[in-house]
Amino acid sequence: MAYNREIYEKAQQMIDARREKAEQNAEARARLFDSLEPEYGKLRQEMIQSVKEAIKSIDMNPEEAAAFLQQQKIRNLTAQQQIKALLQKHDLPEDYLEVKYACPVCHDTGIDGNRLCECHLEILKKLAYDEAGSKSPLKFCRFGDFRLDYYSDKVNPDYGCSPRQRMSEILDYCKSYAATFDTDSPSLLFFGETGLGKTHLSLSIAGEVINAGYSVIYNSAQNIFNELQKERFGKGDSDGRFEPMVLECDLLVIDDLGAEFSTQFTNAALYNIINTRINSGLPTVINTNLNMKEIEERYTRRIASRLIGEYAVLNFIGDDVRQIRSENNG
Ligand SMILES: [Zn+2]
Repeated sequence: MAYNREIYEKAQQMIDARREKAEQNAEARARLFDSLEPEYGKLRQEMIQSVKEAIKSIDMNPEEAAAFLQQQKIRNLTAQQQIKALLQKHDLPEDYLEVKYACPVCHDTGIDGNRLCECHLEILKKLAYDEAGSKSPLKFCRFGDFRLDYYSDKVNPDYGCSPRQRMSEILDYCKSYAATFDTDSPSLLFFGETGLGKTHLSLSIAGEVINAGYSVIYNSAQNIFNELQKERFGKGDSDGRFEPMVLECDLLVIDDLGAEFSTQFTNAALYNIINTRINSGLPTVINTNLNMKEIEERYTRRIASRLIGEYAVLNFIGDDVRQIRSENNG
């Protein structure tokens, strides 16, 4: 995936900061140990000295040099052994004085051999998703703020249960979906009228899944299509990252499908998103005010049939809770 320059620079800064922090922490531990154990300073000096002395061997004849180097090596190793013994004496771990890099592969340089280290790629990816998230006007919601008491507990004969009962089941399902999320999780389709909490639960899932360390793109259908369109037809300011992120992220959340201005482009883009992600086995959460018949009419039968065939469908029922909420507040 290609990233823009700011993201590369920011990633490099983060890696540099990580390395400096690890080195500073090691120095702080060394200072602490020095104050605890005066012998340590002498031994450290001894180690440094043995390395410095070794350089003298270049002026010696080969035999002399070999013996001298061996001598310095023993001197160095002896000092190391003595430091280890001191650490043991103070019940400190053997690696207490070593620099503890966050990445053992690249020692927080971001480079592994002649390519970017896996840790560097992870940071780039995370920054790109953070940036995509910052473009979303949607704010995360929490399951804890979901108010079941806004839903009627009167049995609705059409459904054979009360809205509150249904929503309580849906809430439990979404909570456990988020808590056990992995890239094998099913895709979800939330149906229901406006104001029944579909966005709230979609964004609660997105928030928890992001916290679990997965890459998530979440935005309204309108914004997702706008971004894709800009990327496809726009001039210059796009670096072509958005489409691969939409297609490859661990979880894609499309809010309010059907509210966008529908064109041939949005229909084709939607089919491509749904189809590609199903084929790669990646989960998507879509919520919509449309019913299946309207989806078929507005988009195409093949989109409707892929959704029905591959998505777990949750039907939200009840009265518009946003209205109830504002009446309660007013
Ligand atoms: Zn690394």
